Amino acid sequence: MNLVVLPARSGTRVSLNKGQALRIVNTHGGQVVDLWAYLLDGSQHMSMPHSVVTLGRIKPRVGDTLYTQLREPILKLEDDQSPGTHCMLFAACDRARYKLLGAQGHHHNCADNMREALGPTGIDPGYVPTPLNLFMNTHFHDHQDMEVVEPQAKVGDFVTFRALQDCIAVMSACPQDMVPVNAHGCTPQPVGYCVLD
Ligand SMILES: [Zn+2]
Repeated sequence: MNLVVLPARSGTRVSLNKGQALRIVNTHGGQVVDLWAYLLDGSQHMSMPHSVVTLGRIKPRVGDTLYTQLREPILKLEDDQSPGTHCMLFAACDRARYKLLGAQGHHHNCADNMREALGPTGIDPGYVPTPLNLFMNTHFHDHQDMEVVEPQAKVGDFVTFRALQDCIAVMSACPQDMVPVNAHGCTPQPVGYCVLD
């Protein structure tokens, strides 16, 4: 399995034919990866709110299908060799998020990474949909309060998604270093990925 390295704080896109799979490997452990998927014509994107409704849960399990905003299947979580603490509720980090956190000047962010990765395809995402925040460790208390702690994903943990339609997957190795979204003392790490038939 030859992994492509997605450098820390950066984003990329991968074209998937229907039936191909995308594996994302937490090569350093403890790193969150934001994941989006679009149909080739950009008309539909993977939608977390619609997937949550259909699945009846807020964290996907192996075998779960993820849906577009028109409720069409787009990706299936085929394998999950991680603690499975992915988050379907968090908006991608963006410039405004870091400004509110007190960042001075430019801060890398998942929303810009996503737009830049998608740019050459001609798809204009406009509003950045809520990503599937892979390996993100969110906890919920009393059905109301939420807490984010360091990911439990260890070195080599991975997830595999099967494409249920021809699509473009976009990933961002989350640059968050101001709150404990990523491990290693809030230090973003690279991850790896590969396409499988
Ligand atoms: Zn992020």
